[in-house]
Amino acid sequence: MGILVIGSVAFDSVETPFGQVEEVLGGSGTYFSTSASFFTDVRLVAVVGEDFPPEHLEFLRSRGVDLSGVKTAPGRTFRWKGRYGYDLNEAQTLDTQLNVFAAFRPELPTGFEDAEYIFLANIDPELQMEVLRQVRRPRLIACDTMNYWIGGKREALLQTLKSVDTLVINEGETRQLAGEANLVKAARAVLAMGPKTLVVKRGEYGVLMFTEHSVFSAPAYPLESVFDPTGAGDTFAGGFIGYLAATGNLSEHNIRRGIVFGSVMASFTVEDFSLNRLRTLHHDEIQDRFRQIKLLTEFNVEE
Ligand code: AMP
Repeated sequence: MGILVIGSVAFDSVETPFGQVEEVLGGSGTYFSTSASFFTDVRLVAVVGEDFPPEHLEFLRSRGVDLSGVKTAPGRTFRWKGRYGYDLNEAQTLDTQLNVFAAFRPELPTGFEDAEYIFLANIDPELQMEVLRQVRRPRLIACDTMNYWIGGKREALLQTLKSVDTLVINEGETRQLAGEANLVKAARAVLAMGPKTLVVKRGEYGVLMFTEHSVFSAPAYPLESVFDPTGAGDTFAGGFIGYLAATGNLSEHNIRRGIVFGSVMASFTVEDFSLNRLRTLHHDEIQDRFRQIKLLTEFNVEE
């Protein structure tokens, strides 16, 4: 079963302690789609400007991503500029230019409205809601967001969250959304906003999943070289939701496996700038790291 995703397709300019890049391919929709394409079919809804090079679209097409919902509009493509210090867990946004996304109104191409798995990647919550209005009866609606929207479009975001099954956000966003410093209390408050499952991304410290009755912890894959964390969150979500859609199984056990596949995918993205590492990634490398994370956390309570 495929996934319908709405998210940003962007030019990113990024500075890390290990180097910098200008106007490379990025965007929440781009990272998510590419990552999920290793597991299932993906249909992307987004807008790019006239300055967007055809080879970037060709790359997504080569991954099997359906681009019939990607419009080219007059104007400039979305741009994001960010910086990371030695603590690679939190990006500092230097500049956000919505450009063609400012006037974008998503219209789903015929057939998209039957999508069973929806991912509302990080983008204006009003656009996320607009997509939800056009779909019929999805099995799963998952969602991401960031401080930019939590602060700037809070009411629209709270409205979107009422329809969301699974929210995937980072630790700082969880605290900001809840207005609560303690992560466990903050998670409870976020669950009360609508989502049945909250997945909190904690960078190199892994992921915590909260439901009303359970908490699950998955480590990040321990890497010796982390080059650029941009897109790690979206890549995580792509692996996670991609795995759920591919298996069609929404049991908690399967959600836990999906979280580990998401962590595996994110561990590849951070090894290089932009989507470069995903361009050369093979399925056996994904399976191999999945097994390694399993070994990493295996222990016996009894001798
Ligand atoms: P992540 O590192 O996974 O949290 O996401 C980074 C990606 O999100 C970058 O490729 C950016 O282009 C994109 N991004 C940054 N800010 C926004 C925003 N306000 N809305 C949509 N996408 C954004």
